[in-house]
Amino acid sequence: MKTISILGSTGSIGTQTLEVVEEQKDLQVAALAAGSNIALLERQIRKFHPSLAAVWDEKKAKELRENIKDLKLKVVSGMEGLLEAATIPEAEIVVTAIVGMIGIRPTIAAIKAGKDIALANKETLVTAGHLIMPLAKKNKVKILPVDSEHSAVFQALNGEKKNKIHKILLTASGGPFRGKKRKELEAVGIEDALRHPNWSMGHKITIDSATLVNKGLEVMEARWLFDVELDQIQVVVQPQSVIHSMVEFEDGGIIAQLGTPDMKLPIQYALFYPERRFLSGKRLDFAKLGQITFEEPDEQTFLGLPLAIEAAQKGGSMPTVFNAANERAVSKFLERKISFLQIYDIISKCMAVHCMIENPDLDQILETEQQVYDYIESRW
Ligand code: NDP
Ligand code: MG
Repeated sequence: MKTISILGSTGSIGTQTLEVVEEQKDLQVAALAAGSNIALLERQIRKFHPSLAAVWDEKKAKELRENIKDLKLKVVSGMEGLLEAATIPEAEIVVTAIVGMIGIRPTIAAIKAGKDIALANKETLVTAGHLIMPLAKKNKVKILPVDSEHSAVFQALNGEKKNKIHKILLTASGGPFRGKKRKELEAVGIEDALRHPNWSMGHKITIDSATLVNKGLEVMEARWLFDVELDQIQVVVQPQSVIHSMVEFEDGGIIAQLGTPDMKLPIQYALFYPERRFLSGKRLDFAKLGQITFEEPDEQTFLGLPLAIEAAQKGGSMPTVFNAANERAVSKFLERKISFLQIYDIISKCMAVHCMIENPDLDQILETEQQVYDYIESRW
């Protein structure tokens, strides 16, 4: 029996993690943490019997305490609550399925408490990878990727420990606007941007997929996870989302991981690594699939990728600026306050005015995040 804690249990990754728990029978849930969806959290609590629940919103936490007073369960709130869920003594693995930079402190706390991390929350590595990776090494904890591309690379590297990576080929679906030019993106709305061709995910990452910011974040995530240089990572558009990513070794041999687009596979792989378990659901049928095609990403139109590369090349606090600006811009787009293309304007303006910090510590990362938010609020 393995015991886990799930931060962000009410989201897309969180609910699919609980589906894996339900199917596998030998996983136990110690803690569940959510933002504000207490109706779903209550159903999860009654089904999976954690000993701790964390709700970000204090008022909602109070409401939940009232609704489940028939149960013996501690309900905590705010950042303190998240940290308690991340460090609960019973858990061996913490699934970081929370969205955004808010995941940094709980991830660091979980690592310090010796928990392995099943990492979905890529924003954490993008902004604080230089702190998290050495900390994980020091505390001898595993960072197990849940992001499908990184799980694919992780799977491709299995048994290749002594062999050097020549190149990582990170695949991208291209998102709902693949093939469109800048002019055609001027008037696109939320509903268009949320229509991802292959994956069903939370709103923020779905918009990030439409802008290609997601792929930019994934390049930075890959760099930290697999300790490679930026120029060893190539993004390849593979619209069917069948190849989840590939590794080219020094002899030119390439190992790819393929499958249907189902996040339960990488989630389950992270939870049971290195063991593979049966997973129900659709299987890849090559005869029906017919073809797998490849394209270069359109970096003239989808500025999310070149801006991310620029932020990664500059390093220091710039990836934090890129990420924080994107987080706030996406919220504004989802609130219908800015247009789709303004997401790029906000990111590039925030990067242009930022005075870079070479090697930011956690406080400086969080201060930079706040400065970016304040700057955006004062202008847009
Ligand atoms: P969702 O928006 O579906 O879910 C986000 C989760 O985080 C919800 O449970 C939400 O709670 C919770 N949450 C948000 N803010 C807080 C907070 N302040 N305190 C506690 N909980 C909070 O996102 P996804 O599941 O799509 O994505 C989660 C992460 O995984 C992201 O970093 C994303 O980039 C990454 N990822 C997702 C993939 C996917 O397929 N969905 C694929 C690869 C990576 P509530 O709803 O109750 O407010
Ligand atoms: Mg991904």
